[in-house]
Amino acid sequence: MMALFCDSALLADGWHGGVRIEIGPQGTITALTSGTTAQPGDQRAKGPVLPTLTNCHSHAFQRAMAGLAETAGSTEDSFWTWRVMMYRLAGLLTPDGMQAVAAKLYSELLKGGFGRVTEFHYVHHQADGTAYATPGETSLRILAAAQEVGIGHTHLPVFYAQSGFGGAEPNAGQRPFLHDVERFLRLLESLETPFARGGATLGAAIHSLRAATPEQMQALLSSGLTHGPIHIHVGEQEKEVEDCLAWSGRRPVEWMLDELPVDARWCAIHATHMTEAETARLAASGAVAGLCPATEANLGDGIFPATQFLAKGGTIAIGTDSHVATSVAEELRLLEYGQRLRDRRRNRLVVGPGASAGRTMIEAVLKGGAQAAGQATFGLAVGAPADLLVLDGASPYLAAAQGDQILDRWLFALGGDAVRDVMVAGQWRIEDGRHAQDEAIDRAFAAVLRRLA
Ligand code: ZN
Repeated sequence: MMALFCDSALLADGWHGGVRIEIGPQGTITALTSGTTAQPGDQRAKGPVLPTLTNCHSHAFQRAMAGLAETAGSTEDSFWTWRVMMYRLAGLLTPDGMQAVAAKLYSELLKGGFGRVTEFHYVHHQADGTAYATPGETSLRILAAAQEVGIGHTHLPVFYAQSGFGGAEPNAGQRPFLHDVERFLRLLESLETPFARGGATLGAAIHSLRAATPEQMQALLSSGLTHGPIHIHVGEQEKEVEDCLAWSGRRPVEWMLDELPVDARWCAIHATHMTEAETARLAASGAVAGLCPATEANLGDGIFPATQFLAKGGTIAIGTDSHVATSVAEELRLLEYGQRLRDRRRNRLVVGPGASAGRTMIEAVLKGGAQAAGQATFGLAVGAPADLLVLDGASPYLAAAQGDQILDRWLFALGGDAVRDVMVAGQWRIEDGRHAQDEAIDRAFAAVLRRLA
């Protein structure tokens, strides 16, 4: 047993002073007392303490190209031109390379305040589509990277079979992603034991409505995807909306809610383009909207109707998707700023007068992230894993801040550097902004980038 004494900590009902967190040998919180004093042998947090956040959407390999798609091409650049570059990268990475990139990314996510990552994993095969000797090879490499850096992991092998609505044939760049239903179900089955042994959660994803036919989706849902979270990209791009309308006469989110059994197990990634009716229906479904504000800005996707969605009681989570950003602060700041730029008003994502935008967003994505990742417990509470972060108490900005001001200073003024220490399942993984394996992780990652250059 160890105990961490915090001068201030964000518990389920708000900020408390003099908080003592006892952590058992399994890495869960066994006792929590506030308004108390430190006892001999306690560790002392070196700043304000709050739970880590869950990243609801990651394609780890894409971190290798972050920042390299910012040069204008000959035609108007869009999501679709970016995708050509991403396909090339997916075909070049070996399993070793994928593991090295994931380890680098996951160490960065820890430093940014994420204690768990939900990996939406679709690069299953070699560039020409040939399967690896072990069908789940790349999933197992991603798990190994998560274990190496000590970040919590929810894994979503992705079903991908078509290149467009109505069962269009896949193109050459998509060969590393493809499965038929039967082979995909065998992949899921093969991953159950290693992921359970590794303490990771296994769910599944359907890449998008473009990547699977209605018959394939029904076959998956009736036979394979019986437990764990289910994620899908939906309504990210205007072209996707147009194509879906041309194919079905309905918009993507509308089609998904009409035709699929969407409930609290589901997470709709992006859901950027929705009518008011779709927004209300998605909120009422109980599904999480998985938002990736930095990637959505980078790809020119659009602005999610967050104020309307939250007003209807919707649940949101944040992810870093293509990893042009890797911190909680950058994603949440952009989420709020997108709403402000659209509405030309300030403090949009608040529960009412006197509420802090930082606190409102942190509470929303703490709950939504746990739901999207299939976590039964979350936050600083007895029985939950000891997943927590310590903001830098030596920062004059934070030393002088009280209560929710701490969150607003962190998210709006300081950013990722304000995260000092990060504990996952009772073990310190980041101390004073560093991971113990930083040098080895950087060496392996640099070698991959040199090979790709
Ligand atoms: Zn994505």
